[in-house]
Amino acid sequence: MKVLKFGGTSVGSVENMRAVMNLIADGNQKIVVLSAMSGTTNSLVEIANYLQKKNKDSARQIISQLEHKYNKVVNDLYSTPEKKEKGKIIVSGIFKTIKSFTSSEFNEVGENTIVAQGELLSTALFTELMLENGYKTVYLSALDFMKIDNDKAADSHFIRDNITLMLQNTEAADYYITQGFICRNAEGNIDNLQRGGSDYTSTLIGAAIDAEEVEIWTDIDGFHNNDPRFVENTKKIDQLSFDEAAELAYFGAKILHPQTILPAKLQNIPVRLKNTMNPSDSGTLISSESSSHGIKAVAAKDGITAIKIRSYRMLNAYGFLKNVFEIFEFFKTPIDMISTSEVSVSVTIDSTKHLNEIVSELKEYGEVEVDTDLSIVCIVGDMIAEETGFAAKVFSALNDIPIRMISYGGSHHNISVLVKTELKKQTLQALSNNLLNT
Ligand code: ADP
Ligand code: ASP
Ligand code: MG
Repeated sequence: MKVLKFGGTSVGSVENMRAVMNLIADGNQKIVVLSAMSGTTNSLVEIANYLQKKNKDSARQIISQLEHKYNKVVNDLYSTPEKKEKGKIIVSGIFKTIKSFTSSEFNEVGENTIVAQGELLSTALFTELMLENGYKTVYLSALDFMKIDNDKAADSHFIRDNITLMLQNTEAADYYITQGFICRNAEGNIDNLQRGGSDYTSTLIGAAIDAEEVEIWTDIDGFHNNDPRFVENTKKIDQLSFDEAAELAYFGAKILHPQTILPAKLQNIPVRLKNTMNPSDSGTLISSESSSHGIKAVAAKDGITAIKIRSYRMLNAYGFLKNVFEIFEFFKTPIDMISTSEVSVSVTIDSTKHLNEIVSELKEYGEVEVDTDLSIVCIVGDMIAEETGFAAKVFSALNDIPIRMISYGGSHHNISVLVKTELKKQTLQALSNNLLNT
């Protein structure tokens, strides 16, 4: 069985929902993962933020605009009065849940519950559309099988056991529709896999059911060699290895949630990126194969903080790195880049949640300097160490860009450079002009 995921734009209008229906309804049994209609999760986050700030009037205003939008969707989506009525009941039920938080104490559970309603809406409405058109369709609630643990990591055993059980116990269907993004946490409350998380849902389900392939359907024809939001003349890549795609996703390529690739890689399940607006295009295939050598693509990750620690003890100070890394481990703060000299080490982090505590503990071992508003630009490809010239090509492409840190050699497929975020666009464009499109 295949798992197909459709993103926000793909289900973002009545026309697009109909296009998705026509696209999936080929008689082959599949699990379909849907995001919220585009814009909905942003509105829900806005509502939650207003409620957090006790600004109930502004929250109510956005709720009413959003409810109005969904009532119009229902009116246009279905042909029969029965389904229009059913759609209205779905919408009013969901908005009753959202409104209930405008008159109660607001906390994190409330926030996560509100933010989850977009996927609950799109999947419930889409299931009714499929049924209205005579397709054998079953709605599966991701809240019954998708789970994260205390460290917010996906609980793959729980997911496998529970989705298997659900599929055994529900009536057989051709199309199973479920929500991306949403899950339960270790306390059993509604939670999510972070923004863009529907991609991750699809590979977690793919791994749990040993799917033959996971297809991620979006609003672009596949993985491009540079970020089309910032750079002109980007080109689609036909094939990437799991490792290459994982690095690009982790280092900011928005087309894939950072954790999407791992479940697929562990079970060796190919992931294909496809364009909902142009289904006949072959898209990008991500698999265990790497079809060509050389530099394939670049991506950039913002919100990076660099920390430089200069040891108080000069030269031959063994144990220094161990002490430094233990501090980051204690505060569960992952390090992305590392660069060392005899007496100092620079690292980058993307979470500043414990920055103050980390800095104050690091000061026991050395002088600490913190630099913010940085971006990691990651250059990915199959760069076998024996082949010469990759590093030289990258550095000459970036001749005019001041580079704050470099990481090369950790793997065969990644060179990372750290630049000021204000220089990110220029850096990406320089790599396109001088490296990717030559
Ligand atoms: P969806 O809602 O389908 O999940 P996203 O907006 O999350 O879609 O991801 C698709 C978007 O990712 C594209 O429209 C594009 O602007 C952006 N993007 C960023 N980097 C890349 C890249 N390297 N290749 C393709 N798209 C990219
Ligand atoms: N709806 C969620 C978001 O906007 C998840 C997703 O689209 O993947 O972040
Ligand atoms: Mg996305």
